Amino acid sequence: MEHLLSTPAALSRCPRCRSITITALDEGIRVRADLIPLPDRNAEIEALLDGRRTYSRLRNNELAYRYPYRMKDPVLNGPIHAQHQCPPRPMQATIFDIGA
Ligand SMILES: [Zn+2]
Repeated sequence: MEHLLSTPAALSRCPRCRSITITALDEGIRVRADLIPLPDRNAEIEALLDGRRTYSRLRNNELAYRYPYRMKDPVLNGPIHAQHQCPPRPMQATIFDIGA
């Protein structure tokens, strides 16, 4: 099987909302995650229920997807970052944007 590329997380701005995020390749898949790690297990559950993936930041600074069956793997005990989701835009901005 071909090895899929993973790269260390780097700071970058989200092109849509301009938030500072971290981006990396995780086994060939481009990941954009929130810069601030989740504070606890409940926050991770909330993110998962929200349909966001979660990633562990490894010692080598790579992001590893937390497959449900791997969540207790000791390798994944670093900070946990949720997949980035742009904050909802205020309604006024949306009306302004469409020129109404
Ligand atoms: Zn964004």
